[in-house]
Amino acid sequence: THFDVVKLSEEITEEMQMITKQNQNIIYEHTGLTSMVILDQNLLKNCIINLITNAIKYSGENTFIEFNSEVTEEEYILTVRDNGIGIPDADQKHLFQPFFRAHNTGNIPGTGLGLNIVRRYAGLMNGKVEFESIINKGTTFTISFSSNNEKNIHSYN
Ligand code: ATP
Ligand code: MG
Repeated sequence: THFDVVKLSEEITEEMQMITKQNQNIIYEHTGLTSMVILDQNLLKNCIINLITNAIKYSGENTFIEFNSEVTEEEYILTVRDNGIGIPDADQKHLFQPFFRAHNTGNIPGTGLGLNIVRRYAGLMNGKVEFESIINKGTTFTISFSSNNEKNIHSYN
């Protein structure tokens, strides 16, 4: 159904800011003419929380996390970017497999299921998950939803 993605994103940002590390800030920004989208709000929320949880876990104190959303006539696209440990090149192709964890996670806890869930939930909404990562620099995850899908993505009011 119809909902305001800025309102949802601001709420999530506020919640997630409470579990960040020392001086780790989440900065949310939206661009676009509208903030209304038509998606399953609970699935989307779960995806965003998974990505931000990873951004927090896999980056250090005194860093920032950029959470952006953009609605255009063609698509709704959200990105979560961190300045963390990054993902080794050789591990990148396995990232969405259940229980897979990259080799640089050290003693950071996790089960390796979050991204698999993100991809499945995004898929249920006809969304596409992509990422770019540089080891020891940071990682950007993107989920995009095309308004060309028959499941319509956003509406203008
Ligand atoms: P959980 O099931 O609790 O989410 P997890 O975080 O280990 O456990 P995923 O979220 O599926 O599992 O992520 C899989 C792996 O991808 C992680 O173990 C980590 O190696 C890597 N990864 C995911 N996000 C990031 C990120 N933002 N920066 C660096 N590595 C990441
Ligand atoms: Mg995770």
